[in-house]
Parts: sequence; C-alpha cells; structure tokens
Amino acid sequence: MKKDTFQISYPSIHAGTEKSEITFLAGKPDLVSVYNPGAQDAPCKRFFVTDATVASLECMKDFTEKFDDGVCGNDCLLILGSGEPFKTVESVLSIITAALEAGFSRKDLFVGIGGGVICDLTAFAASVFKRGAAVELVPTTLLAMVDASIGGKTGCDYQTYKNMIGSFFPARRLYYWPEFVQYLPENQYNSGLAEAFKTALLFDKEMYYIFKNEAEKINARDPETLQTIINKSVRAKAAVVEKDFTEQGIRATLNLGHTFGHALESVAGLGKITHGAAVAWGIGRAVALSFKKEYCREAFMTEIFDILKLYGWETAAIPGVVYGGGIGERLLNVMHKDKKNLTEKVRLIIQKGLQDTVIEEVADSDILSVLK
Ligand code: NAD
Repeated sequence: MKKDTFQISYPSIHAGTEKSEITFLAGKPDLVSVYNPGAQDAPCKRFFVTDATVASLECMKDFTEKFDDGVCGNDCLLILGSGEPFKTVESVLSIITAALEAGFSRKDLFVGIGGGVICDLTAFAASVFKRGAAVELVPTTLLAMVDASIGGKTGCDYQTYKNMIGSFFPARRLYYWPEFVQYLPENQYNSGLAEAFKTALLFDKEMYYIFKNEAEKINARDPETLQTIINKSVRAKAAVVEKDFTEQGIRATLNLGHTFGHALESVAGLGKITHGAAVAWGIGRAVALSFKKEYCREAFMTEIFDILKLYGWETAAIPGVVYGGGIGERLLNVMHKDKKNLTEKVRLIIQKGLQDTVIEEVADSDILSVLK
C-alpha cells in the first residue's frame, strides 16, 4: 500500500506556560500587597478562586473584604465549597461561567488561592478557558505547597474516579507563604508532611535527616523548620518536573507510596484516611517490599518505620482503618486498576536506599507478602 505521511510541528505549550516564577514570602499572608484587587493600573483583569474555608481565614480578611458581591473594580472573587467533594466538573464550569459573565478574555488572569483542590480546579479551568488563559497559584495547604501547586498537573474528579479529567498547564507564578500552614487542622498538616517526607527519601538527604532528627520541631510546626522543608520540597519537585514534564521517566518516582496508598484510601472508603497518611503507609509497604526483594538492608527498613512512627503514621501491614476478611487481596485488586500500570502487572516505585529508587513491575505474590 502506498503511503503519504507528513508531520507538522507546534510550539511546545501554551504561551505563558513555558516557565513558572516561584516566590517565597515570609510573615502573615498578605494577598492585598501582592495583587491589590481593584487596582486601576493592573495589566489585566484577575479572576480569583478560593474555597469557603480559606476565604474565612483571619489572614484573608483584608483581601476578601475588598470584594463586594464577588466584584472589586475589574477583578472578581469566586468562593467554592471546601474539599475533595467539590473537585467536580460542575466547579470547573462554575469558574468558567462566572468568568464569561464578567467579560474575561484569554488575555486575563486566573488566580487559585487554596489547597490542592482549588489549585487543580483553577488551573484546569484556566487551561480550557477560551483555549487557555494564564494562571497563578497561591497554595495554602502544606500538601499544595510541597506537591500539588508545582508541575502543571491540573484537573478534577469525574464520577467516582479521581483526577480523570485534566491537562498539563503550569502556573505562570507561584507564591508560597509558609505561614498559611499554621492555620491547618492537624490531619491536613500531617497529610502534607507525608508528601514532603517522600520527597526527602527520593531526592534530599539533608531533609531526610531533618525528618529523622527534628520530629519535635516539625510536629510543633516550628516556622524555620517548616520554611526549610517547604523550600527544599518545592525546589526538588521543580527540578524533577523541569527534567520530565509529562512523566516519561524520573517524574514517575514521585508516585512512591502512592499505589499502595491509593488502594488503602479506596478500600478504607474515600475520606476515612487522609491522602498523606495513606501515602506514608504506602511508603512503609514499598520499603518492606524492598527488604523482601533483598534490595535494602533490614536496618534501612527499621529506620524508615521508626521515622514513620514519629509522625503517627501506620507501619502495620494491615492498618487499623481497614477491617474484614481478605484485605490484602482487596488492596491488590485496587492496585491492579492503577492508571500508571503498563501491563497486567502492578508497577511500583521501590526505594533501595536514600536517593536510590527503582521502578518495577512486581509479582502479585510479592505484593501480597507485604500485605499480611
Ligand atoms: P484541599 O484543597 O481539599 O484542602 C484540604 C482542606 O484544607 C480543605 O477543606 C481546605 O478548605 C482547607 N484549607 C486550605 N488551606 C487552609 C489553611 N491554610 N488553613 C486551614 N484550612 C485550609 O486538599 P489538599 O490536601 O490541599 O490537596 C489535595 C488535592 O490535591 C487532591 O485533589 C489531589 O488530587 C491534589 N493533588 C494534585 C497534585 C498535582 O500535581 N496537581 C499533586 C498532589 C495532590
């Protein structure tokens, strides 16, 4: 058969998404000083999105009070419901509808101020608004600071599936105010810590030793220690994303603990355990698997378990949050549905040691051996 094939090339990504400028800010979060809502000399209209919990924080008062019925000069503020149940297509459409009604164009700017849910939703809405408008993010949870805000993964949940609709669309600017973390409830703080600990194991020995030796300061949210952890996590993730934006290689290692962790979240029932606590348990299982496969020494596994315990994370093969029969098999069953699997085998990130990681397809019998 005669074939006539040709190729056309495109610029790599949307204009305005080729780089992210990252700024760390100290002291009480002050959105007014950064964005000055209603300013006559602003280069474009700004569409701010946050959630009800963040909007009601004391440190947000000066900012939210500027808006009357969601409007301040040319700028708008939309307040969505808080948390994962609101990470829906409907929320994305509500952002787009409100921006259209307020006459926003693709030259204007969307700004997400909140946790991972608001960052993902706002960036996704921006990425499809009139085929793409710029977005900036102000992460307010520890998890969003150390993970969700960096790297351009956007999206929302669909039906019972997490993050099933989305795009790669990095924020043009990111503002990190570690002090937002002081307002977080304990479980949300602890959830973000787990992602930072994962980053330490993968990429940053110095941060690993902070987790190992300075639990008291970390658990007390010592501002200086937190600033170091956030700064190091952001830089480590930024470096990985810069090398592998679309997750063809090294970026996949950021899923350490996640295949086990997602399975636990699902078997326990969504919302029964925080994402971070499930990931922390998953890190323990991945290290147990590493020991079982003789990739790491027992002393390494014990050290990791000891660190996990310092932050109240589960190290048991079957954690207390799940009960009933055949739990190992039920967890394995969910792990088989992980969207990162490439064959019928489960693909796992395994830690052989500090900054020593492999990605492997693992036999069911090996996985089950660390789930009992
Ligand atoms: P979240 O956004 O739901 O925030 C958790 C809760 O904390 C919410 O109720 C929120 O209102 C509240 N909150 C936010 N900031 C606060 C503050 N400073 N003080 C008090 N309360 C505050 O959840 P999250 O844990 O931040 O993020 C989880 C989401 O992030 C998930 O949907 C996940 O899929 C996504 N995520 C995305 C990426 C990515 O690369 N895009 C990476 C990891 C996680």
